[in-house]
Amino acid sequence: MSDEKTYISYNNVHQLCQESAEKIKQFKPDLIIAIGGGGFIPARMLRSFLKEPGQPNVRIMAIILSLYEEIINSDGVEEKPGTKVVRTQWIDYNQSKVDLVGKNVLIIDEVDDTRTTLHYAVSELKKDVEEQAKAKNADPKSTKFGIFVLHDKDKKKKAELPDEIMKTGNYFAARQVPDCWIAYPWEATDIVFHQKMAEKQGNDVFLPSNTPEQ
Ligand code: 5GP
Repeated sequence: MSDEKTYISYNNVHQLCQESAEKIKQFKPDLIIAIGGGGFIPARMLRSFLKEPGQPNVRIMAIILSLYEEIINSDGVEEKPGTKVVRTQWIDYNQSKVDLVGKNVLIIDEVDDTRTTLHYAVSELKKDVEEQAKAKNADPKSTKFGIFVLHDKDKKKKAELPDEIMKTGNYFAARQVPDCWIAYPWEATDIVFHQKMAEKQGNDVFLPSNTPEQ
C-alpha cells in the first residue's frame, strides 16, 4: 500500500454519488442498507439523486459493522489481521417492519478494501432473506442485492461477493483506485487542512459544467 493518503472532499463525494445515481437507477433500489459509519453520508447523498418526482424517498436502514484485527485468538492461534467482522448494530425487522423479500436492496459502504465487510453484510442479509421468505412461503431469489461504494481498491481481496451481484452489473463503484489509504472528509479533525489537501491532489470538484458564471 502506498504511504501517501488520498484526501477526498465532501464535494467530491457528492459528485461521485450524483454520477453513480444515473447507473444505480437502472437497479431500481427499493431499500438502501448503509454500513456505518462510512456508508452513512454517501447513502444520504445518493438518496437525493435517486428521488423520482411523485415517488417517496428510498428508505435507508443502518447497520454498523466493525472489522477487528485479531492477531492471536483465545486458543493462542494466529489469525489473519482484519478478518473478523463484528455486528454492532443490525436491522430490527419487527420494529422497522422491513421485509427484504422481493426487494431490490442496495448496500452502501464508502470503500471496498479487502471486501471482508461487504462479504459479511451480503451473507448475513441473505440469511435474513431466507428466513423471511420461508416464513411466508416465498421465493428468496426474488430479492436482488446491489452494492454501491465510492472507491474500490484495486488489490487482491480477502473475500468474494456473489456472481449475482458481480456478474449482473449490480456492483457500482464510483471509482477504482490503487491500494492507498483514503482520507474521507467526515473523519477529518481539521477540515480546512483536509480540504486544501483534497484540492492540491485534484480530489475536489470535477466537471464544473454547470458551475454558475462568476
Ligand atoms: P474491508 O477491508 O472490509 O473492505 O473494509 C473495512 C472497512 O475498513 C471499511 O468499511 C472502512 O471503514 C475501512 N477502510 C478500509 N480502507 C480504508 C481507507 O482507505 N480509508 C478509510 N478511511 N477507511 C478504510
